[in-house]
Amino acid sequence: MRAVAETSALSHLECSACQKRWDANALQTLCRSCNKVLLARYNLALAKETLTKESLAQRPRGMWRWRELLPVREEQHIVTLGEGDTPLLPAPRLGSPFGCKRLFIKDEGLNPTGSFKARGISAAVSRAIELGVREMAIPTAGNAGSALAAYGARAGLTTHLFMPEDTPELNKKEGAIYGAQITLVRGLINDCGALVRDRAQKRGWFDVSTLKEPYRAEGKKTMGLELAEQFGWDVPDVIIYPTGGGTGIIGIWKAFEELEELGFIGPRRPRMISVQAAGCAPIVRAFLHGLDHAPPWQNAWTLASGLRVPGAVADYLILSVIRKSAGTALTVTDDEILEAMREIGAREGVFAAPEGAATWAAAKRLLMDKVIHRDERIVLMNTGTGLKYPEQVTASFPVEDPIGA
Ligand SMILES: *Cc1c(COP(=O)(O)O)cnc(C)c1O
Ligand SMILES: [Zn+2]
Repeated sequence: MRAVAETSALSHLECSACQKRWDANALQTLCRSCNKVLLARYNLALAKETLTKESLAQRPRGMWRWRELLPVREEQHIVTLGEGDTPLLPAPRLGSPFGCKRLFIKDEGLNPTGSFKARGISAAVSRAIELGVREMAIPTAGNAGSALAAYGARAGLTTHLFMPEDTPELNKKEGAIYGAQITLVRGLINDCGALVRDRAQKRGWFDVSTLKEPYRAEGKKTMGLELAEQFGWDVPDVIIYPTGGGTGIIGIWKAFEELEELGFIGPRRPRMISVQAAGCAPIVRAFLHGLDHAPPWQNAWTLASGLRVPGAVADYLILSVIRKSAGTALTVTDDEILEAMREIGAREGVFAAPEGAATWAAAKRLLMDKVIHRDERIVLMNTGTGLKYPEQVTASFPVEDPIGA
């Protein structure tokens, strides 16, 4: 028998729009023919030789258990802080007023740097190092920058973060603690993106903007892999996902496709539900208008800073996942988000990020409108911890005045 090493089964990159194939062993960004998103493709027959339900269960915990389905070829290049394998928490107290007995929270707030961005950045940084990158840059509304700074520090790389000047103070400090070079920008995340593009080209930095390189989505894909495993090699009925750039929703869907090809799950899929903030909802608007692309949102504002993405490069992929899955898209207001944070905290002991809380605000509306049903298995993706958000977010949570001694 041929000896097989547990390593990546990465085979090539494929354009999600024109289907052209690109070399996965060279550094790639967007498709050089049509400027659309590249997706990693694997030799799944090869992966199957070592990736089995049994071998997975025996490997050390964390997202790198899925080695065959991740892009890094040599173990020494993996940059890890212990990301992945987050709990899937049943949320019976939260669900009970609605008669929901099978409501779950996938708690991504337990990841290093406090959000699921750790997964994507761990994959992207590891693969970039393997391909010779020494300096990386990112436009960020907060969590992606913190993650890049942390993983960059861990790998001894120089990182450059470009943030809107009104990014939460704590996110700026995090970057500073991890030793990143921070540039504040008078503008939004897309303005930061334009600056990164320009400087990266001039100075030879690698641009790790959302979906402008192929591997952050691969890291986030591991959320879908874990969900299938946590549901006993099945998928839930509904996944509610707070959508910014869309890496997560695209990654989770891709995970299910690969797992079906591997024979780990069947053809059934959850309905993928995208939630955005009322103050920045380009995907929801495009979905409701039946568009294939999402025109940029003007004057974007929400306290859920991870959802303040006025235009996403992968808009067409997000919309296609929502439609293929027979899902839907909806907005919630910042007030509904705060109310949902309160409920998740008080009923389940989870301090959700506002983005994560938005999924519960959305679930309540969908339950009332009977778009989702109380007997379904519903997963709320809590994408980060609420501990990282500035005082304004929690200002409406009253604490009594001190009592005298
Ligand atoms: C970035 C971010 C999002 C949006 O994620 P995408 O996968 O880019 O859509 C949601 N929640 C939090 C906490 C984030 O940091
Ligand atoms: Zn293309």
